[in-house]
Amino acid sequence: MASKSLSKRPSPDFSKLALESIAVRAGTKRSQEYQEHSEALYLTSSFCFDSAEEAEKGFANAETGFIYSRFTNPTVSMFQDRLAALEGGEACIATASGMAAIMTTAMAHLKAGDHVVCSRSVFGATIQLFTSILGRFGITTSYVDLSDSKAWQTAVQPNTRMFYLETPSNPLTEIADIKAISKIAKKANALFVVDNCFCTPALQRPLELGADVVIHSATKYLDGQGRVLGGAIVGKKSFVTDKVFPFVRTAGPTLSAFNAWVFLKGLETLDLRMKQQSSNALALAQWLEKQTGVERVYHPGLKSHPQHALAKRQQKAGGAILSFTLKGGKKAAFKLIDQTRLCSITANLGDTRTTITHPASTTHCRVSPEARKAAGITDGLVRIAVGLENVEDLINDLRGGFKK
Ligand SMILES: *Cc1c(COP(=O)(O)O)cnc(C)c1O
Repeated sequence: MASKSLSKRPSPDFSKLALESIAVRAGTKRSQEYQEHSEALYLTSSFCFDSAEEAEKGFANAETGFIYSRFTNPTVSMFQDRLAALEGGEACIATASGMAAIMTTAMAHLKAGDHVVCSRSVFGATIQLFTSILGRFGITTSYVDLSDSKAWQTAVQPNTRMFYLETPSNPLTEIADIKAISKIAKKANALFVVDNCFCTPALQRPLELGADVVIHSATKYLDGQGRVLGGAIVGKKSFVTDKVFPFVRTAGPTLSAFNAWVFLKGLETLDLRMKQQSSNALALAQWLEKQTGVERVYHPGLKSHPQHALAKRQQKAGGAILSFTLKGGKKAAFKLIDQTRLCSITANLGDTRTTITHPASTTHCRVSPEARKAAGITDGLVRIAVGLENVEDLINDLRGGFKK
């Protein structure tokens, strides 16, 4: 948000640079005092003025100056500017977590009596937020099939104000046609919000495909190393600067400067990590398809994926998440997970370390067995969020689970 560059040397024109260059360079501002090469970590709650007049001016232009770190901090604004450039958005506001970003977007845009159309296959806490929390404030939500564009049209009501989805979905990697759904959202006059957590701008740029707002849980791939929590909202200035910023300034779901600094370091390797982790995931998915104990493998990069063509159009690679069903059900899934030594047994994802989980008994354990079955989360399903280990080592770690 801060537009004042502290260094006198002109910056390159980032609009002409490729994503790899933007990821390591955009948003950096050096202090005139020290000209530090790497981004400084500004751990300060407030900022000083030279005079009472300067303070008066600062408060009159709170969006551009530095006053108080609930709403502006130089380290946080470097992260915001870099992520906005990566997503091709006009502005970005960072938040304390991914859920804070979703809550902030809803609070900045919706009011009592409004209606949301949301994909059924979104992060569990997102469904809780829309139904249990926003529901108490008179906002209603209809859930539809992510990949059925017609269902989005059918769900529209006169009071529909927002469309919300994640693509690819977790854990079955279903794909939403962002371009097709954006046309329906536009006609309905609804704000089209895409959670780009699984692909990141390295693999998918929803704003170019017609989304109005991109949401991030920066906790996942933007950090990429499993250290800190954070979130972000990217979009047009008319939404992010005019509606989101005043909400964050007043309500305070602010990202800490320390976490922003960690994300700046994470973004520098984002492109390399996403390419390598996607390629590891595809190699592992192809190997899994050949194992006799495996019924079906889900990864957008596989030719057998029902939306492989759409994924290829919309994404630069298939992403690092894959899942598969074992013929032997829960018993076989537990056996496979328990015999691994390299993979971490945890429900988290977006790390350089590969994680393995049994969705039916962990991430989806609060969903009723009938609803789980309808959603395809069967007892034999295993999800792997593939990291940066050598793929042969990962294959060898899983191999024992398929031995008779
Ligand atoms: C983890 C996650 C969130 C929530 O993010 P937090 O940083 O944990 O609050 C939202 N959306 C998706 C897709 C996620 O994976």
